[in-house]
Amino acid sequence: MAKIFCVANQKGGVGKTTTCVNLAAALHQAGQRTLLIDLDPQGNATMGSGIDKRGLERSVYHLLVGLAGLDEVRVVSETGGYDVLPANRDLAGAEVELVDLERRENRLRDAFKSFDQDYDFVLIDCPPSLSMLTLNGLCAAHGVIIPMQCEYYALEGLSDLVNTIKKVHANLNRELKIIGLLRVMFDPRMTLQQQVSAQLEAHFGDKVFRAIVPRNVRLAEAPSHGMPGIVFDRGAKGAQAYMAFATEMIERMKAL
Ligand code: ADP
Ligand code: MG
Repeated sequence: MAKIFCVANQKGGVGKTTTCVNLAAALHQAGQRTLLIDLDPQGNATMGSGIDKRGLERSVYHLLVGLAGLDEVRVVSETGGYDVLPANRDLAGAEVELVDLERRENRLRDAFKSFDQDYDFVLIDCPPSLSMLTLNGLCAAHGVIIPMQCEYYALEGLSDLVNTIKKVHANLNRELKIIGLLRVMFDPRMTLQQQVSAQLEAHFGDKVFRAIVPRNVRLAEAPSHGMPGIVFDRGAKGAQAYMAFATEMIERMKAL
């Protein structure tokens, strides 16, 4: 059975998409059957996987509103090797359309049910909001991975997300739990970042992943080549960190 994870944080620019794309590629390289679902109308995970969002005939939008099945939507990332349910601006319309549909929070979960056997890992790249799209991601998932920067306001933003996850757990999806917090764009030379990082460990214990992703320009350059960072330059520090993170995820899943 597939293990399904949302990569979520309602803040934009915190490394959700970078985490999804690189973790998907690293899991694929580790022999895991992996699917990446792009749930953000910006389509960054789609483009970062080397798939042109402008040329899509069908996208995850069609899946959510019932206009297409999973087989009609999924494509393979040529550069990353994993499967993708791609997205583009069409998905922005889903937000409104879903409100009138039956089981509106469960559209993704329902659509995915029959394909559960096809994958070991499914990663969902959420938009930077706690919207109906994110809710669909949370209802379909077993766990949440939260990428965060170790900055002053990080903990504050975290409480809204944690409360949403608790509500979804209580009312909609009993399986949902927080798998862990991933420190990203980390700069060890900054004392403040070290302090926040230590606070996170003190507060959340082993919910904080051991792997730490440093700020690394090669990770930021990779999307413009339509490649995951770990494919673009696997020797770079950022790539190495995401590969270590994939190993840690595989270990944790065995322990679950
Ligand atoms: P989100 O999906 O949360 O909005 P992104 O993954 O798109 O965030 O990251 C925001 C920006 O920061 C992008 O330009 C991305 O390339 C860059 N970025 C992400 N992670 C790193 C990192 N570890 N080092 C350097 N740049 C990064
Ligand atoms: Mg993103």
